[in-house]
Amino acid sequence: MKSILHLKDSDTFCLLPFMHTYGSADGNLVLCCEAQEYECGKGGKTLDSRWNSKEYKEVRKALVGGTKHKACHVCWHNEKNGIESNRQLHTEQHWNEFAPLIQLNDDYTVSNQPVWFELKIGNFCNLACRMCSTHSSYKRAQDIDIIGKYSGFDNQETKLVTPDDLFAILQSDVDWTQVERLQFTGGEPIINEMHYDLLYSIPREYRHLIRLRYATNLTHLKYRQHDLIDIWRQFKHVNVKVSMDGAGAVYDYIRVGGSFSTVANNMNELKNVDNVDIAVGLTIQVYNVFALPEFFDFINKIGINFSFVGSFLLQTPKYLNISVLPQTWKDQICDKLSKYNGKVNIHRHDNFDTIIEYMQKNDNEKLFWKKTMPYTQEMESRHPDSITFMNLLKTHGITI
Ligand code: SF4
Repeated sequence: MKSILHLKDSDTFCLLPFMHTYGSADGNLVLCCEAQEYECGKGGKTLDSRWNSKEYKEVRKALVGGTKHKACHVCWHNEKNGIESNRQLHTEQHWNEFAPLIQLNDDYTVSNQPVWFELKIGNFCNLACRMCSTHSSYKRAQDIDIIGKYSGFDNQETKLVTPDDLFAILQSDVDWTQVERLQFTGGEPIINEMHYDLLYSIPREYRHLIRLRYATNLTHLKYRQHDLIDIWRQFKHVNVKVSMDGAGAVYDYIRVGGSFSTVANNMNELKNVDNVDIAVGLTIQVYNVFALPEFFDFINKIGINFSFVGSFLLQTPKYLNISVLPQTWKDQICDKLSKYNGKVNIHRHDNFDTIIEYMQKNDNEKLFWKKTMPYTQEMESRHPDSITFMNLLKTHGITI
């Protein structure tokens, strides 16, 4: 048995390949969300044949021995550029909790099962958000002719992708007494029967030992015969990160098929459940950057601490990134953001400073006229609604 406890300050060691695994949409095990091209034990019929596969052993050996394995290139790139990597973040946040659980053998197998499963449940989703890809929502495939025209047809997913094999293996092989954390992301987990089957396969007497985590659109608290609050009460703790990109009409515009009032009601109902914490996942993009103050007013009103809002600046597709906005609009938006009184914290900076700086430093206006507006208009013609991008800008105080 090898000890890893002296490796906390190593430049290469990472906890994740020793205690965590990520199930991809098509049912392969990969190291983490940042290393999805490196598949481990593909096609293996048991959890152990995947978890202790030659790919996993090769990475573990490299990371213990001080070698920057190529599978983890995103972390090495970020660290080289002074950006905190996933590896560093997990070391900082989880070392004390998880390092002592790792049982590493001389051949770089580990005797512990993953104590943290992060599972992407495919691309089955009930919404078709305007910035989303067909990889995350199969529903977007209905507009593939428009999306492909502006984003390219090569990298589109035209199939419904589901991780059936992996979920069957998990149901039969996981020793739930070893699992500390079970995390679901999508597609949309709460409308996915595989997700419920896996939860029900956990013996009742072990459920109270496990923490659940979700990235969800929270469009339902009851789905078919499943009552999520009843189910969640049986677990130790549940962290529900609600994906929402605006309040009111901005939400309804971006999240096609969703209803802001339904989600807000569901959030209010969940606030009364003792073992559930609500967080928010916000994707900042051309369709909402002008409405961020109103969104944070809503977050404040519903009683969620601003520190529980995780924001992400949309980079793909590029034509929905905030750098494309015309300069006269950017100036008005920056002025509005700079006057906001609430104490928001985005990307670890006070107020909306990083958003303002990013918008003013990056100019991609040509793309706005070439792609953003034509894409927006084609989508609006295909799915006519009283809400349009131009209306939203006007009602949020932007003169166009
Ligand atoms: S080093 Fe980075 S990419 Fe590799 S497993 Fe750790 S977090 Fe993932």
